[in-house]
Amino acid sequence: MADYVIIGAGVFGVSTALYLATSEPNAKIVLIDRSSSPYPSAASSDLNRIIRADYSDIFYMRLALKAIEKWNTDPLYNPHFHKTGMLFAEEIGMGRASFNNYIEIGADPGAQIFTVDQARQEFPVFAKSNWKDVADDMYYNPCSGWADADPSMRAAAGAALAAGVEYIQGTVERLLFKDDGNNQDVCVGVKTADGDEIRGKKILLCTGAWTAKLIADSAPQNTKLQVNGRMVAAAATCCMVRCAPEQLSLYRDAPVHFLGMHHTHGESIPPNAEGILKFNYEVSFTNVEHHEASGQTLSIPPVHASQTTWSQRVPEQLKQKVRTVVDHVYGKNAPGLTFDSYRMCWDAVTPNQDWIISSHPACEGLYLAGGGSFHSFKFLPILGQYVARMLNNQLTPEEKDRWAWDRPNVGAACEMYIPQNDLKDFV
Ligand SMILES: Cc1cc2nc3c(=O)[nH]c(=O)nc-3n(C[C@H](O)[C@H](O)[C@H](O)COP(=O)(O)OP(=O)(O)OC[C@H]3O[C@@H](n4cnc5c(N)ncnc54)[C@H](O)[C@@H]3O)c2cc1C
Repeated sequence: MADYVIIGAGVFGVSTALYLATSEPNAKIVLIDRSSSPYPSAASSDLNRIIRADYSDIFYMRLALKAIEKWNTDPLYNPHFHKTGMLFAEEIGMGRASFNNYIEIGADPGAQIFTVDQARQEFPVFAKSNWKDVADDMYYNPCSGWADADPSMRAAAGAALAAGVEYIQGTVERLLFKDDGNNQDVCVGVKTADGDEIRGKKILLCTGAWTAKLIADSAPQNTKLQVNGRMVAAAATCCMVRCAPEQLSLYRDAPVHFLGMHHTHGESIPPNAEGILKFNYEVSFTNVEHHEASGQTLSIPPVHASQTTWSQRVPEQLKQKVRTVVDHVYGKNAPGLTFDSYRMCWDAVTPNQDWIISSHPACEGLYLAGGGSFHSFKFLPILGQYVARMLNNQLTPEEKDRWAWDRPNVGAACEMYIPQNDLKDFV
């Protein structure tokens, strides 16, 4: 029997497996996912992810500063981190709040406030950006940047395996409960689609956007167990844009750019070594379905890979939205850029964007880690430590309250990411 069975090899699962393997070297740790890490439909699998500590919530700022320290110094993560800086043009006050938070906690990342004119002078690459209605001044942090997502995940998963974690490739069909399933108050393991049973003392779900469905499939009639909106599968739309080699010098030194205005809500991540840029349109949406066995209405990521991975099969409306982000960052018909592919990327969103890092109050042996608001990747180097502390009942009272399964859901790390539409609205 394993000490820990972790389902899901995204940032939560991999970071936890690695931390447990190094902090409890004698523990038997099993990590299960549908393919070798990272699974292409996972939120943690992508071309890149933004790494920043600019949070309007000091709690997450402090955590992100710890993570960035690792992105800068840990040889596991540092080769994948690109410290390009990040520029904010927005009307929601996130930049100014972050600037003030750094002063409050006595950290000095060298962040600056610019007027729109100063920002255009400082970053000529954004000469044609649509900064209409920037409500406050612009905000720039030179310590932020982006990471190559898949290579970072592979590095962390490789380190976990080297430290003794057993990796099992398989789809978990359902949770196993005590007394041959008769006692759903105690979780004892999981059963895969191949019929294998993997048993453990602590079963940790790091299943991201698929969490509500897995629990509903496992115990459809048990109302106490259901996720009930605590984690909702939601997607944002991304596009990859290829830059012609002769134009690469135009974009190569651009910082990450965040546009948070009513006319544009998205992000731009500068080119990688292959000259590929990425853009996100961040107004998220659900994919609501009727879950027959439990009678619930659940948001569940679509089963077709073309709706969860890079493809051309993204609804035209969404393609247009994300193309608008490109236009509003670099101007219409920016030289050298060609649209390559698109993706609907599914993550688990929590109502107030705090993570759930908690035992399940209605099921002994069952634990969960995930959620947030499209912001968890940057914490890859440190997340596992907090999940491990939860598993061993060592979270601080504040962490425990914030990340509890049941909580008031007040405040928000990033309010704008609550889904506003459903995929059906676009097809
Ligand atoms: C478009 C978009 C942009 C984002 N940008 C950023 C960013 O710039 N910076 C940042 O910090 N964060 C960002 N995020 C957020 C971040 O990527 C996610 O919050 C994080 O990756 C979620 O990790 P996870 O481990 O919870 O889930 P996932 O990475 O989705 O992992 C869940 C894993 O569980 C597995 N799984 C699920 N069910 C089963 C089952 N039944 N059997 C076996 N395996 C199963 C899946 O295969 C998957 O590998 C973004 C998210 C999105 C969607």
